[in-house]
Amino acid sequence: MSVLFSGIESLRGIGKIKAEKYHKLGIDSVYDLICHFPKKYFDFHCNVSVQNAIPEEYNCIKLKIISKLPPQAVRRNLTVCKAVATDGTDNITVIMFNNVYAFQYLRIGYVYYMYGKVTENFYGKEITSPVYIYVNEKNHIQPQYRLTQGLTVNMVRADMKQALNVMYNEPFETLPDDILRKYSLKPLMWSLENIHFPENIKSVEQAKKRLAFDELLRLQLGMLVMRKRSERHTAFKMDKSTDITDFIKNLPFELTGDQKRASKEIIADLCRDVPMNRLLQGDVGSGKTAVASIACYFAFKNGIQSALMAPTEILASQHYRTLSGFLEPLGVKVCLLTGSLTLKKKLQIRSEISAGIYDVIIGTHAIIQKEVEYKSLGLVITDEQHRFGVSQRIALAEKGDMPHKLVMSATPIPRTLALMIYGDLDISMIKQLPKGRKPVRTYAVTGKLRSRVFNYVRQYLEDGRQAYIVCPMIEDSENELFAVKSYAEKVIKSDFSKYNVEILHGKMSAQEKESVMKKFHDHKIDVLICTTVVEVGVDVPNASVMVIENAERFGLSQIHQLRGRVGRGQYESSCILITDSTSEDCIHRMKIMSKTSDGFAISEEDLKLRGPGDFFGNAQHGLPTMKIADLSCNIGLMNDARQCATEIIVDDPFLKKPCYNSLRMEVIRLFDKYIIG
Ligand code: ADP
Ligand code: MG
Repeated sequence: MSVLFSGIESLRGIGKIKAEKYHKLGIDSVYDLICHFPKKYFDFHCNVSVQNAIPEEYNCIKLKIISKLPPQAVRRNLTVCKAVATDGTDNITVIMFNNVYAFQYLRIGYVYYMYGKVTENFYGKEITSPVYIYVNEKNHIQPQYRLTQGLTVNMVRADMKQALNVMYNEPFETLPDDILRKYSLKPLMWSLENIHFPENIKSVEQAKKRLAFDELLRLQLGMLVMRKRSERHTAFKMDKSTDITDFIKNLPFELTGDQKRASKEIIADLCRDVPMNRLLQGDVGSGKTAVASIACYFAFKNGIQSALMAPTEILASQHYRTLSGFLEPLGVKVCLLTGSLTLKKKLQIRSEISAGIYDVIIGTHAIIQKEVEYKSLGLVITDEQHRFGVSQRIALAEKGDMPHKLVMSATPIPRTLALMIYGDLDISMIKQLPKGRKPVRTYAVTGKLRSRVFNYVRQYLEDGRQAYIVCPMIEDSENELFAVKSYAEKVIKSDFSKYNVEILHGKMSAQEKESVMKKFHDHKIDVLICTTVVEVGVDVPNASVMVIENAERFGLSQIHQLRGRVGRGQYESSCILITDSTSEDCIHRMKIMSKTSDGFAISEEDLKLRGPGDFFGNAQHGLPTMKIADLSCNIGLMNDARQCATEIIVDDPFLKKPCYNSLRMEVIRLFDKYIIG
């Protein structure tokens, strides 16, 4: 049996206690340890002189310790250690806080490479909390790991050495040579070694590239196999000549060009015998629901039931109101099935669904439970797709008799990324908003203007409108960011004492959240102080002003999502971003937000500014988690992985060839049992 996949205790020097510590980090096997990649590296190569060290930045300096002062307990929980060091050009004070242990190891007369933030004041230069290595240390690149109490970097490094030896006893490679050559990738074992013990920064980059490529490739392969698998099935092929002009005429508005195009694409899919797998992307308010209703009507005319699933009850009832408004006048029977109905009512609706009385079924997860039987389910639509994970996407797809699937997402993502994240789907985009839509006026101000901002918000409240105030934290913490709870306490007593103020955040139970949202919806709350939980979902057209505190903390796309909560009704609406950050990056972002209301443009900009990491890091996409690709991938690598996956699938749709054996195993591991049957 392979030692590589046996328990971590099989390494020398790892007993029960230490193994426990590793388990805490999610490391169970020897291989898991190898896959515990460093979170960053300190590079002790590039060193500067004390004289040339750049103040306020991290510098690496080769220093000899001249003298050490005794540690000073400044106050409870704060001990300061100081030493004086030199490199011949000038002296510098080494300062460490609460780290008597590391300080002890510094010895007078010895030379070290020290890496830390350099500052300059009246007394001269200082380097604060440096990490250091002894001058004769061979490894000049020092990885830093996620650790746990009682586990040090040096312990991890020693164990890692052993783990790598195990690996070399059981050599493996997941990719065929021709792929490695074509995409200039290093061998897997080389990469696993060099991610932990690199010779230089270049080898770190090469190792990361290979490992990130693997992750992206597996993700893509999983998606493509999933897609191939669903294409093997046949779906109900609807009739191309179905006439739905009566429905289009009956809509209270003229469809936008993009809505028409998306509807055409969807209808074309419905008329094929391969199940549709389509993503409908469009900014909040772009009119995706209308497009969904066209698809439902088309299915209805073909004698087919449709189901529409939303992530919350509130959203589900909202859709129910909209869709029944559009559809019932034309004789379509629409029902709402949610968890909160009484059992009796549920049973009744279920039996009516299976009897085929309803044509369109709207609800939450309740509609995919196995108790629910459909008479002729042929079209399944999920809204706010990013709330559902891959597994739920599949559970829903397996309801009924291979239905056509449409997923709707209000998170605009650039095409490159969408292809990566939704590689199993075709994509329709709605880019234009309906005519006459007023963009949300967006202003960025500093905290000094807060009382004026509150004044401005009160004017809205006086006019009968409602407001959101978004804070980054739930509770006060060291980082001095605004927190929902204390913020609410304060404004309830002062600025908004005349109004109903309530809070909403992610630590509340689903029930509490729903109940607060319902109260907000029914205008029993004037000001809702919340975290980003409001990002998804609710249409409260009367809420027309939003304040975002610590706006520097939020990404562009996130602010755009948040801002989409206002400006949904006929009222002029505003979003005020408050930030005291003066960083160039922040100012740039605030400018973009004030100028642009196009979600796709904003997400492109976000991708440029921050790289794809944030999109992958964001668990909301429901993707399997990535260990390294989220940190180090770039668009080029993403495209490479995609191209490579496509080529492999063309060559071997279900990865049955021996050369893809280990890839196949990896894909199965990543996607569990879901995709490869
Ligand atoms: P989304 O789900 O994409 O956020 P909705 O479908 O809820 O957007 O539409 C938002 C609002 O715009 C709804 O009130 C809807 O009736 C309206 N709407 C949709 N399409 C049009 C259109 N072509 N012209 C005018 N209003 C529209
Ligand atoms: Mg919507």
